[in-house]
Amino acid sequence: MLDTFNRPLRDLRISVTDRCNFRCTYCMPLDEYEWLEKSEVLSFEEIARLARLFVSLGVEKIRLTGGEPLARRALEILIAKLSTLEPAPEICLTTNGSLLAEKIPALKAAGLRRINVSIDSLKPERFRQITKRGDLQKVLDGLFAAQRLGLKPIKINAVLERGVNEDEILDLVAFSRAHEFSLRFIEFMDVGNANEWRLDKIVSKQEIIATIHARFPLRQIGRDKGSAPSVDYEFVDGCGGDVGVIASVTEPFCGTCTRARLTADGKFVTCLFAHTGYDLKKLMRGGASDAEVLDVLETIWGRRRDRYSEERLAALQSQVGYDPKRQKKIEMISLGG
Ligand code: SF4
Repeated sequence: MLDTFNRPLRDLRISVTDRCNFRCTYCMPLDEYEWLEKSEVLSFEEIARLARLFVSLGVEKIRLTGGEPLARRALEILIAKLSTLEPAPEICLTTNGSLLAEKIPALKAAGLRRINVSIDSLKPERFRQITKRGDLQKVLDGLFAAQRLGLKPIKINAVLERGVNEDEILDLVAFSRAHEFSLRFIEFMDVGNANEWRLDKIVSKQEIIATIHARFPLRQIGRDKGSAPSVDYEFVDGCGGDVGVIASVTEPFCGTCTRARLTADGKFVTCLFAHTGYDLKKLMRGGASDAEVLDVLETIWGRRRDRYSEERLAALQSQVGYDPKRQKKIEMISLGG
């Protein structure tokens, strides 16, 4: 199944809740949010049904996100359901890590093998400022609990913002090398509508790699499967762990984007920067058959023309410039990363 630019659908990111116990400045900058009514959130049965249909269309990897996915009670029940799909997709979880230490045994027993944990700073005070309420030690406890249980790979995601945490690039790399974690730096992006994005807040991939390479020489590996968002590097000295950069702003990768998203309230979204999605919950709760749902998924993907990050770069490089507010986007709380 291909979209208008011949991109297959391979990855599905499922937001299981819009709620989060952090308020990271780049993701959920406001203090108060209006949460979805519980009845509006897809049930595990509804998510599993859609996941089965997506897998039948070629999805190979399912990432559970939020909000904070571990804020949803008994997530292991969903993971157990997804683990029985055929052909078996890779199941990953992106989490802020705050509840990981207590939940990881049940998640692993249900079939989870891969996690990404967001850690933007290794300084407890700064970590609290960025997340507005996070406890770094709890997140580290979760990270090491997952490692002790044998999850692999464990990836650390760090969003870099100039003037906030770019001075920690080498500390984060040294930490990841010492514990053999995979580290992914992410360029600060204009996700949602309220994170006050500006070009001068970006720390570019070029700068990140140059900084690391000067201290820990790197060799480029490339993108996993040719379509992953991150360009990865290994350490020339053979040290464990690896490092990568997701350069959505300075080196967009829309041309190989195989990702779709499902919001917590059941909207099918074909781009991280989309302003709307198709209401699959309404379709399913209206009694649609599997064949009818599949027909809708195929039609929407077949018409997909999203290439937002490439268009942003073109605008940034043009006379006109780029206005991050030119289009209202779906907020990260409903979309996941
Ligand atoms: S901007 Fe949209 S189309 Fe481009 S890589 Fe990101 S999600 Fe994919």
